[in-house]
Order: sequence, then C-alpha cells, then structure tokens
Amino acid sequence: MNETENLQNLPVVRGEYKFNEALKNYTWLNVGGPADVMFMPKDVADLQYFLQNKDENMPVFVLGGGSNLLVRDGGIEGVVVKLSDACFREIKIESDRIICGAGLLNNVLKKTVENEGLGGLEFLCSIPGCVGGAVRSNAGCFGREISDVLISAKVVNGNGEVLELRNKDFHFAYRHSEFPSDFIIVEVTLGYERQSSEDVKKTIEQQAEYRKAHQPQGIRTAGSTFKNPPQMRAWELIKNSGADKLKIGGAQMSLQHCNFLQNDGTSNASDIEDLCDEVKRMVKDKCGVELELEVNKVGRR
Ligand SMILES: Cc1cc2nc3c(=O)[nH]c(=O)nc-3n(C[C@H](O)[C@H](O)[C@H](O)COP(=O)(O)OP(=O)(O)OC[C@H]3O[C@@H](n4cnc5c(N)ncnc54)[C@H](O)[C@@H]3O)c2cc1C
Repeated sequence: MNETENLQNLPVVRGEYKFNEALKNYTWLNVGGPADVMFMPKDVADLQYFLQNKDENMPVFVLGGGSNLLVRDGGIEGVVVKLSDACFREIKIESDRIICGAGLLNNVLKKTVENEGLGGLEFLCSIPGCVGGAVRSNAGCFGREISDVLISAKVVNGNGEVLELRNKDFHFAYRHSEFPSDFIIVEVTLGYERQSSEDVKKTIEQQAEYRKAHQPQGIRTAGSTFKNPPQMRAWELIKNSGADKLKIGGAQMSLQHCNFLQNDGTSNASDIEDLCDEVKRMVKDKCGVELELEVNKVGRR
C-alpha cells in the first residue's frame, strides 16, 4: 500500500498516523520491517472512532514496548496501534489499588511504586515494556506474575466498544493469557499492599542486582527466547544440546544466559528466526523436548 491509498482508506482521527514506519526502532531486538501505518490515538475515544470506522479488512496490531517481539523483515501489514499519548501513561492511586494507562512503561511505574510503598508490585518494575504488554504475556519474575496482582483491565474490542475485564476473564497461565487477539488493553488496575517506601526500594534494588549478575545487560534482545517446559529450564536444554554456541549472521545465543538471544547489531529478523528454528531442532533431537517460543513472532517474512 502506498501513502495515498492508505490515506483514502483511513478514518480522520485526532491522533497521528505515520506511514511506512520502521518497526526496528520500536523493538528491543532492533530488527524488522515497517508498519504499513502506525496509529497513535489521542485518547480512548479516538481509538474507538478509528476501530469503528476503519476498513473492516484492515488488520490491526497493538505494539507495547516492543520488548517481547520479533518483527519479521517484511514488516506488519495494516495498522500498528501505539498507545504513546500521555493519556495512556497516567497513574491513579486508590487505597488498595493503582490504575495505570496500558502504555505506561514498567520502569516509569517504578518511581511511583517506590515512593508510595506499593508492596507486591516490585517484580513488575524490572520487566521491560509496558503494563498492557505485561498483561498480554502474563509477565513475571522473582516468583510473581502480573496475574497475581491484576484486578481488572479496560479494553477496546475490535468493534470499538469499551469493556471491563476481570482477572479471570484473561485465563492466565504461565507467560500466557487468553483473550481475543483484537482486544486492545487501554487501562490496567493492579492491587498492592502498602509497605514502607524503604522496604519496597530495597526489594527493587535487590532484584535489579540479581538481574545484573545473572542476565546480559545492554544488548539487543527480547529476554527469554523460549518458555521453560514444565519442571525444566529452557537454558539447560539449550546448553545440553550444544545449541548455546550457535550463531547465524549477527544472531547468537548470549554467552552469559543461553536462553537470551542477541543481535550484535548486524542481524536481520530472518537470521534470528533461523537461529530459533535451529535451537528448537537441536533441543528436540538431543533432548527430546519441544521448546515453545516465548518471544512473539509477528509480520511478513
Ligand atoms: C532484557 C529483557 C528482560 C526480560 N525479562 C522478562 C522477565 O523477567 N519476565 C517476563 O515475563 N518477560 C521478560 N521479558 C519479556 C518482555 O519484557 C515482557 O514480555 C513484556 O511484558 C512485554 O511487554 P511489551 O509492552 O514490551 O510488549 P510487546 O513486546 O510490545 O508486545 C508483546 C505482545 O503483547 C501485545 N500487547 C502489547 N500491548 C498491548 C495492549 N495494550 N493490549 C493488548 N495487547 C498488547 C502485543 O500485541 C504482543 O502480542 C524481558 C525482555 C527483555 C528485553
């Protein structure tokens, strides 16, 4: 699609459209082709209006912080929604819960969690990405997952209607939730237990220290590449199969943590995809275990 065709088919909105927008600049892996169109709604009503008036065959994908995404080299067809307006990053604190815009980065939420002593939310502060993305993937670490603290979330469905979903509506499992793929989470309500700010800060610091010591820092990665199979560790299977030493183009498994893959800056998405396929094949052949990708692979090859 070219820009003129796109403009003719797109509703007139208050937010912003960007055409042929390079998605590598929005993902931690720093690879991938363009979005045909990127749409940054002005607010929830603008998003609703867009969904109600867009061509019904135009696919829509929502991008969070891009920390769990492998966007393929052909880019993403249709419209990529990015909740970047300030209204999607707001925070409201109530006596036992916090209401956050889904576009809020977890590491921005961290300041509020520390200052207000919001116990139980410490784990979320060290996970890259946005609050909405964390719900989609039931993100977790240090023995907790967002499903442990999620009370409810406001979503806009594919018809542009606003719905309020409760925790159980997400059918959470390990790094997994189940809700229609066209639902866009716009607001998330999390429970907390009031603690002293010092205690919360200390926990966050300890968790950050643990990450520094055990996980690669400052690399182009998407975190854990594969899910841990039940009672097993993906990194152990990768190491035991010898796949930890694989390198394809500029993509390789990290020497510090072999379930993190990394792009040395010269890789494209197909190198990374081929590396994932080869790791899976070697683990299956040598260990008899079928690994499942934790990273979301999206777009055209
Ligand atoms: C260095 C590093 C460390 C990591 N450590 C952890 C960890 O400890 N634990 C862990 O669980 N993960 C970890 N991850 C993976 C990643 O940070 C999480 O999965 C994160 O929650 C993804 O959020 P995001 O906003 O970046 O989502 P994206 O990567 O942008 O998107 C992921 C999926 O969520 C969907 N999505 C995003 N926003 C919304 C929305 N508003 N509504 C509906 N769907 C949406 C997207 O469509 C996509 O399907 C790590 C990643 C990195 C790079």
